[in-house]
Amino acid sequence: TQLTSLNGLTQDKAFIKQWQQVKFDNKAKLAALVAQECEVEFDLSMLFDVQVKRIHEYKRQLLNLLHVVHLYGRILDGDVKDMVPRCVLMGGKAAPGYAMAKLIIKFANNLAHMINSDPRVKPYLRMAYLPNYNVSAMEVICPGTELSEQISTAGKEASGTGNMKFMMNGALTIGTLDGANIEIREQVGPDNFFLFGLSAEQVAQANDTQENQIFSPALLKVIALLKSGHFNLVEPGIFDPIIAAIEAPKDQWRLAADFDSYCQAQLHVANTYLDKETWQQMSIRNTAASGRFSSDVTIGQYRDDIWMAKKTANNNR
Ligand SMILES: *Cc1c(COP(=O)(O)O)cnc(C)c1O
Repeated sequence: TQLTSLNGLTQDKAFIKQWQQVKFDNKAKLAALVAQECEVEFDLSMLFDVQVKRIHEYKRQLLNLLHVVHLYGRILDGDVKDMVPRCVLMGGKAAPGYAMAKLIIKFANNLAHMINSDPRVKPYLRMAYLPNYNVSAMEVICPGTELSEQISTAGKEASGTGNMKFMMNGALTIGTLDGANIEIREQVGPDNFFLFGLSAEQVAQANDTQENQIFSPALLKVIALLKSGHFNLVEPGIFDPIIAAIEAPKDQWRLAADFDSYCQAQLHVANTYLDKETWQQMSIRNTAASGRFSSDVTIGQYRDDIWMAKKTANNNR
């Protein structure tokens, strides 16, 4: 809880510089891991955009990948004015029998291959899929992350813990109002959190009434690129289940419904990243507000509300 005293340093230029340097050094360690495990070169000057967690449709790795395809499409179209370069890292395991989750991993790998092997794309976008995501990997990933992807369909995530780990390590979150994201945003303040998407209430309502999905022009372009077979040139049809999932009239994960809002929030992220000092100040505020998620606070609540135990002299939080 004493981390809140960091808030007193957000105007301290020397401190901000040090804070940025620590993140830079940790990005270098993460880039070394990505180089070793994925043979992809991450550029330390680019925004490090990370989603690592179990692969599940409700966690919406697909939404992230659709945004990556959107950026890739823009680059191929030459629409790169003001584009903020980023390195996208995805990682996570899928349950052995979860065919759609396995297919999402395959799609991420194919997409990464197309991106990284195209010299036109390299200045703006890099992507890696980290195999064997585990706690040891997270110890390197978390401190090196600048943007934490917490983009589950609202109402589906019980809490999440990855979101807290990233916040504590100075990452900014792009996320939905779901699970502990809600409390993270309350703690750090809405100006220091990139919010997008339907609320849990809107998701629940739509599930009853949703008939015809609306696809924005940007999403239609992404779907057209998928349908052209661009990402599976020698594997015809393998991503048909993914295309069907996006186009499903009653998609319970609400990919199409949240796509434009997500891209808007990602633009806001990119524009904010251009102002290095503001970004670092937001990063400091995130770490400062993360004490709420310390296990000490949770145990203190159990002590007071569940166990009704007395505080001791050494335990006065
Ligand atoms: C934190 C963590 C998780 C949980 O991540 P969520 O984003 O909360 O789903 C899963 N696996 C590993 C290795 C972790 O470190």
